[in-house]
Amino acid sequence: MKIRRADIETIAAHARSGYPHEVCGALLGVSREGVVHAARAVPLTNRETERPAVRYQIDPADLIALQRSAREEGLDIVGYFHSHPDHPARPSETDRRIAAEGLSDGVVHMVFGVAGGRDVVPSSWVFRDARQGFEEEPLDVI
Ligand SMILES: [Zn+2]
Repeated sequence: MKIRRADIETIAAHARSGYPHEVCGALLGVSREGVVHAARAVPLTNRETERPAVRYQIDPADLIALQRSAREEGLDIVGYFHSHPDHPARPSETDRRIAAEGLSDGVVHMVFGVAGGRDVVPSSWVFRDARQGFEEEPLDVI
């Protein structure tokens, strides 16, 4: 996937400010010939109330509103991101289980490790299927 450094920085700042809770959001952009081009990272509120340090939840109403405004700009939701406070920058077993339940086709999942509320490590993944799980997607930072 292609993403601008400024958008990586936006997500990193969001991940630091939300620490020690997980933060989440969506990536708007276009998908051309199988390559995701992110145009903008949009932070969303983590609606998880019970275990926000290890879980995140996006309100479907937030997504519908975002989808609507994206369409007006000729963009789509091409991916999602969330942070892993003091956990590795790769999908967890919970992430795999949720992805296997659906709505993951053709989108990228960015996972940002955030250690100690400071050091942020970005990563990007595509969900193949319940058996193969996530495959790392090369990050082309432009
Ligand atoms: Zn996760």
